[in-house]
Amino acid sequence: MRAERLLHWYRENKRDLPWRRGATPYGIWVSEVMLQQTQVDRVVPYYGRWMGRFPDACSLASAPVEEVLLYWEGLGYYARARNLHAAAAVVCGKFGGELPRDRVELQKLPGTGPYTSAAVMSIAFGEAIPAVDANAARVCSRLDDIHEPPKSPGGRRRILQAATGLLAGGPPGELTQAVMELGALVCRPWSPECRNCPLAGDCEAFRKGSQSQLPVREKEKGIVHVSSAAAVVVAYRRALLYMRPPESLWGGLQGFPAEELREGERVEEAAARAARESFGLAVIPCAELCVVHHSYTNRKVVLHGIQCRLAGGTGPCAKSCHWVPLQSLDRHPLDAGSRKIAEILQKVSC
Ligand code: SF4
Repeated sequence: MRAERLLHWYRENKRDLPWRRGATPYGIWVSEVMLQQTQVDRVVPYYGRWMGRFPDACSLASAPVEEVLLYWEGLGYYARARNLHAAAAVVCGKFGGELPRDRVELQKLPGTGPYTSAAVMSIAFGEAIPAVDANAARVCSRLDDIHEPPKSPGGRRRILQAATGLLAGGPPGELTQAVMELGALVCRPWSPECRNCPLAGDCEAFRKGSQSQLPVREKEKGIVHVSSAAAVVVAYRRALLYMRPPESLWGGLQGFPAEELREGERVEEAAARAARESFGLAVIPCAELCVVHHSYTNRKVVLHGIQCRLAGGTGPCAKSCHWVPLQSLDRHPLDAGSRKIAEILQKVSC
């Protein structure tokens, strides 16, 4: 029977991951949010640190958002951390700290969409609700030879149908994880190991030899290369940091204000513009401290850290900013580019 073969394979081959060692529904929820758009290997250390500091919804809810973002720093897509924090407040206040065993209520929590709620219902509560991540979508597309993109309405419907069928005949939570794990370890994007697959006998793509064409890929966004300059204002061994607005990409994080270079603009001019627009302060660029590289979404950024001094002394900013002692920069959640600049700044200032 298909479920038995799949379960047998899973029990023999699954990776030993921390959220598979008797995690609570809260732990499973956290792991699923962290795993969105992020590789398993990258998530493992973050998950361990997070669960050590925020072992349940109420400890998360009562922590300041700044600390929450510090524990998330480097994992990207920071709205996930802000949403988890906001959702934990609801779980703690409305549900006594326990995740509701109700998909409708789960989906009312900030940042908890159809996939995450399905994963929690299935993995944490054992309900037969299919959770389709990219790995499961690939397995289902191949199993039923679905030649429609997984995100198209038709593709989504057919994949969901196939995923529902895979949950029959065994414990849904384990089967959900087995399908995802099969996609990660065997039914890989480029070289599926069909000869070792427990579902080979049921797989239409294997029978027809169409595995490499599936799932049908959507047109990918191309990589955009950009150059930016950041204003690094330091005085009396303190750095001037900018608080990113909550609605921005890195909302809630702090950092050195940075702007992409306009055509014909010099890095010093862009740094001065960044300070003016973010702090409302005039600065005088002095020297290039460093050049660092980072990337986000489809953008690869070359970021010039430009040391600047304030044109009018160390007076108050017109906009959101604060002075942070250089030795305390580690305790503030920074965006990726600013963290790299901060590390260099701390080294050269020692
Ligand atoms: Fe994927 Fe091959 Fe297994 Fe089909 S037989 S599900 S293509 S690994």
